[in-house]
Amino acid sequence: MMTIGLIGGLSWESSAEYYRLINEGVHQRLGENHSAKLVMVSLDFHEIEVLQHRDRWEEAAAAMVAAARQVEQGGAGCLVICSNTMHRMADEVAAATSIPLLHIADATAAAVSAAGLKRLGLLGTRFTMEHDFYKGLLTDRYRLEIMIPDEDDRTKLHAIIFDQLVVGDIRPESRRAVLEMIERLVVRGAEGIILGCTEIPLLVKPGDASVPLFDTTALHAAMAVDWALLAE
Ligand code: GLU
Repeated sequence: MMTIGLIGGLSWESSAEYYRLINEGVHQRLGENHSAKLVMVSLDFHEIEVLQHRDRWEEAAAAMVAAARQVEQGGAGCLVICSNTMHRMADEVAAATSIPLLHIADATAAAVSAAGLKRLGLLGTRFTMEHDFYKGLLTDRYRLEIMIPDEDDRTKLHAIIFDQLVVGDIRPESRRAVLEMIERLVVRGAEGIILGCTEIPLLVKPGDASVPLFDTTALHAAMAVDWALLAE
């Protein structure tokens, strides 16, 4: 088994899910009392979130590059960024280390393609929904058609993520609001929905809506397990 490297704290609520899912995945595959070999560098989310909201992406990228180098020095053989949003600087981070970066959008697109779907709604932070780094990859590399919620829904969802989910505040009314957003995307033609924020699966689970929901946290964690056990 190879050692997985994680950059977490983005937020720690979802890093804990990665930790659980990766260990469960290794246990399911190897049995007995096997668990994952991994190294995690966990950042202070407040510092990152301030840089994101002040549009200081270069400083955020520098923090991610430093974390990636720490992960590599810690003995990891691959890099997993435990956030969709922070894949904005995936190329810089990948270039700064000599270990492969397992991209969350590749894990997601593989599952979407395996399900035979083409038109997907994308839920995530405002940055993921509105900037091009994530949508662009899905449309250009994987030829998917990506739809995002309207402005009101994007504002509401961004607030739910940053005010509630990253601090583990799971509210039934937010769950209802996100399910309504999903149904509005379905009415507009979405065949499935990408839960493109690693905290959204804390609120909404695959099976909660009338179309398939793609849990990027679980798909990314499964990709890391596959990578770690490639030689087993
Ligand atoms: N975990 C989140 C994501 O997947 C949001 C937190 C962040 O901005 O990194 O996008």
